[in-house]
Amino acid sequence: MANISFFSGETIPLELHKVRVVQKLSLVPVERRLEAITEAGNNTFLLKNKDIFLDMLTDSGVNAMSDNQMAAMMICDDSYAGSATFTRLESKINEIFGTPIFLPAHQGRAAEHILAQAFVKSGNVIPMNFHFTTPKAHITLCGGRVEELVIDEGLNTTSNFPFKGNIDIDKLRALIEKEGAKNIPFIRIEAGTNLIGGQPFSLENLRETAKIAREHGIMTVLDASLLQDNLYFIKQREEACRDWSIRKITRAISDEMDIIYFSARKLGFARGGGICLRDKAIADKLIEFVPLFEGFLTYGGMSTREMEAITVGLDETMDEDVISQGPQFIQFMCDECVKKGIPVVTPAGGLGCHLNAMEFLPHVDQHQYPAGALAAAVFLAGGIRGMERGTISEQREPDGTEPLASMELLRLALPRRVFTMSQVKYAVDRIEWLFHNRELVGGLKFVEEPTTLRFFFGRLAPVGDWQEKLVTQFRKDFGDSL
Ligand SMILES: *Cc1c(COP(=O)(O)O)cnc(C)c1O
Repeated sequence: MANISFFSGETIPLELHKVRVVQKLSLVPVERRLEAITEAGNNTFLLKNKDIFLDMLTDSGVNAMSDNQMAAMMICDDSYAGSATFTRLESKINEIFGTPIFLPAHQGRAAEHILAQAFVKSGNVIPMNFHFTTPKAHITLCGGRVEELVIDEGLNTTSNFPFKGNIDIDKLRALIEKEGAKNIPFIRIEAGTNLIGGQPFSLENLRETAKIAREHGIMTVLDASLLQDNLYFIKQREEACRDWSIRKITRAISDEMDIIYFSARKLGFARGGGICLRDKAIADKLIEFVPLFEGFLTYGGMSTREMEAITVGLDETMDEDVISQGPQFIQFMCDECVKKGIPVVTPAGGLGCHLNAMEFLPHVDQHQYPAGALAAAVFLAGGIRGMERGTISEQREPDGTEPLASMELLRLALPRRVFTMSQVKYAVDRIEWLFHNRELVGGLKFVEEPTTLRFFFGRLAPVGDWQEKLVTQFRKDFGDSL
């Protein structure tokens, strides 16, 4: 996506691609949306696609593929062991990251599973800029503890700070001092920090973090799932890198890291994942887990078709015109919300537009899950499916107490190259309507609560009859419109 000015003075992102395959969508009436969200236990993960108009749940595995990716899938070399497809993927990763060893896994969390099994022992502490649900669950399962060291700006929802995913270097030093390097198997650094709104780290911060880790002999692990957006933001926002190519920035990052893992459901516009590294001694500690949990070393649970798509997708990720599309659309959506007074996380990050539920619904007690309630309400308002990223996405402590999330966000993801400008404008319109009627929205309570990753399949019910009232208001304001 290029920086193109319009004669009219309007500023809208312009796609540098055309759409050649489409999928029909349906928009069901608000009464059906109420039935659907009730059937789904007020958990947007449990909705059925047929009831959804704009699926903004996630950017995972739903990014649009390119013609070249589809073409590559047709010529994959299918075999259990030693396929040319795997060799192509392995060489592409080595070309981009400078990491000759690639251990394939079926998706990002599978890589996390292997890393946790291999390195995390009971009582260990794993520092990170911010947790993500799946690595935290795997680390906790192995008896480890997560320590979040993101800078204070990272938790400030309306900041202009360009690198809210940075690690607080003083906090990192203090933690190592307190815990001792021996109790810290690795430092995990997440690109495009997911749960604080897709916010990037700077190359400078990554280098400082890695330097401290090296001083103490601690391994560094990069979660590169959302690296694509982080690369674009470094190029845009970090003075020292302004004239660098995306490839050069990528290499500068990977040169600092001992291990890089990623979900190819995000990075590479496909599905799959894996672990990239240089050091054979470290690889030896991981390698046996690949055939045990994933599949043989030349596929790790991925189909050869997907591996071909990742190889091409990673190459496309090195093209600034390709990777700017997501952040520019998200910036547009966030700017439109800000203009209308709708509380969103700023600056706009990658991944999607994040509504700040704590400010959107200040009257909903955090124990009644404002972000979850907002997710249900946005679905009622427009058939738009977002994802709760707040207290529901946390899990209870072993003693049963419920930690309240530091932020209550509703993430409206913009999968890459998928939505059009008018669809984004529609979403903003329905959210604005909801914002005007926000006092109608009430809280939620659990009726079925799983202990691990409860946000995926837990079921909730509204507190009171606010959803019926919202539907009545919708009919009053929109007549018989969908
Ligand atoms: C999605 C994601 C993961 C997990 O990847 P899956 O492929 O969904 O298992 C890990 N880390 C981050 C930052 C992610 O966004």
